[in-house]
Amino acid sequence: MNDLHIITAQTIALPETAYQARHFINGVAQDSADGRKSDRISPSHGLVVSQAALGSAVETEAAIKAARAAFDDGRWSRLSGKARAAVLNKVADLIEANVEKLALIETLESGKPISQARSECGGAADLWRYAASLARTSHGDSHNTLGADILAVVLKEPIGVVSIIAPWNFPFWILSQKLPFALAAGCTCVVKPSEMTPSTTAMLADMLVEAGLPQGVCNIVLGYGNPVGALMTSHPDVDMVTFTGSTAVGKIITKTAGDTLKKVALELGGKNPQVIFPNCDLEGAADAVTFGVYFNVGQCCNSSSRIIVHEDIADAFVARVVALSRRVAFGNPLHPDTQVGAIVTPEHATKIDGYVRAAVASGAEVCIGGGPMTVPGVGTQFYQPTVVRGVTPDMAIAREEVFGPVLVVLTFRTLEEAIALTNDATYGLSAGIWCDDVHTCLEFSRRAQAGTVWTNTWMDGFPEVAFGGVKQSGQGREIGSYGFDEFLEVKSLVMRVGRTRAPWVKNA
Ligand code: NDP
Repeated sequence: MNDLHIITAQTIALPETAYQARHFINGVAQDSADGRKSDRISPSHGLVVSQAALGSAVETEAAIKAARAAFDDGRWSRLSGKARAAVLNKVADLIEANVEKLALIETLESGKPISQARSECGGAADLWRYAASLARTSHGDSHNTLGADILAVVLKEPIGVVSIIAPWNFPFWILSQKLPFALAAGCTCVVKPSEMTPSTTAMLADMLVEAGLPQGVCNIVLGYGNPVGALMTSHPDVDMVTFTGSTAVGKIITKTAGDTLKKVALELGGKNPQVIFPNCDLEGAADAVTFGVYFNVGQCCNSSSRIIVHEDIADAFVARVVALSRRVAFGNPLHPDTQVGAIVTPEHATKIDGYVRAAVASGAEVCIGGGPMTVPGVGTQFYQPTVVRGVTPDMAIAREEVFGPVLVVLTFRTLEEAIALTNDATYGLSAGIWCDDVHTCLEFSRRAQAGTVWTNTWMDGFPEVAFGGVKQSGQGREIGSYGFDEFLEVKSLVMRVGRTRAPWVKNA
């Protein structure tokens, strides 16, 4: 462990008081009726960084009622796209003006490095601006070829009240992949962040008010999946649920929402492979593999947690990734050079370790890392960069979402084998190929069962490009025009031109 690149120093002071996160219901920031709160202890520094109101059915009902009323009276849905865009653009400006404040609390609640939190919170402004552009350019279809006496138009209308349930791994970013798109469409919302990372969502409330979002259009309820999230997915006044999180909870939500036939959009887990051919930019591939597995300590739906590498280059390639793993800066999230921070909870660190131990017990070999680590002067909730080889496709570590900084190595000889291994998964979020032969890249891209395929790159994303998964990685899409369309309902309007309709009832 001594030869890892560990950063212990810190350049940013810890806050003196814990941030107080409150619900935001019908335009009013408020505590819970019963006064309950939860403490968030920083995964990296061990101090209470925030205290958040713990919601119950009382606050959830009130938030849904406010969102329903705001939708039904048209205070937002009947505004012009231009007016909605103006508010969303103003929110984007306010996000940019508050990046430092957002990033610090995001880092302390999640354990991610401050540089990453800054780029996520600052970058989220672009999602708001892109959504604003869609508010102005959204349109349906017209049918002018149905005969001289008929004109039909297909309208797009906001779906209604949307429940947004977000996880802890990218709290502000994932919120911004959903909320501005729902608002751009004209929907009203009830938002629940993870109870582990509530503060940046609560901070957004002030920006929504300052930007002029009408009261009741966006409501925020803090608290646990049960009861808050459960009521948000079962309540008859909610029209749609959009959720990012575990596949297990995604399945529960689908069942709960099914009782009232709500639309459900799910962005769930992944076991995303990068396939490495010998004829590629091997240095670039090794760097992308290192980035893909350690980014956000692997607590990322898009983590490239397995590589499928050609047998001829497997030893050299793994050696290169191991060497790069030693150079990645792990440690104190409050130092600007740190690239990888802490694990979200001690329980999660134990779960990650369990996968590695089980693989070793079944004959796998740890090339680097393989256990928890302490960052001196900072904390114990860290996990070493870990590469495991000698893995067989049936092992849990090769099939399940470890959600930690753990890479597993599988090998192949032919393109057919690489595609078969790629698709031998219950998940289908993303996949990648590194190869200089365009025909191989195209064949792989078309046959890989994944919502996104990257060729000769990894995890490049853009607000314009749809994101989501197939198989048990989810349903529906986020961002891009496809993500925006999820929040729209289609209404067909058929109009007769002139009094040309032949009577159905025959004349007597
Ligand atoms: P969960 O899926 O349990 O939680 C995600 C969100 O759903 C949280 O806001 C949670 O609330 C809420 N929730 C929990 N139960 C319900 C319910 N019955 N109805 C409605 N909402 C509910 O993720 P975890 O945080 O527990 O993480 C567990 C595992 O999930 C991770 O180890 C990882 O494998 C995976 N995961 C995947 C993510 C992804 O990006 N695809 C993101 C996060 C996790 P709360 O936690 O506040 O009670």
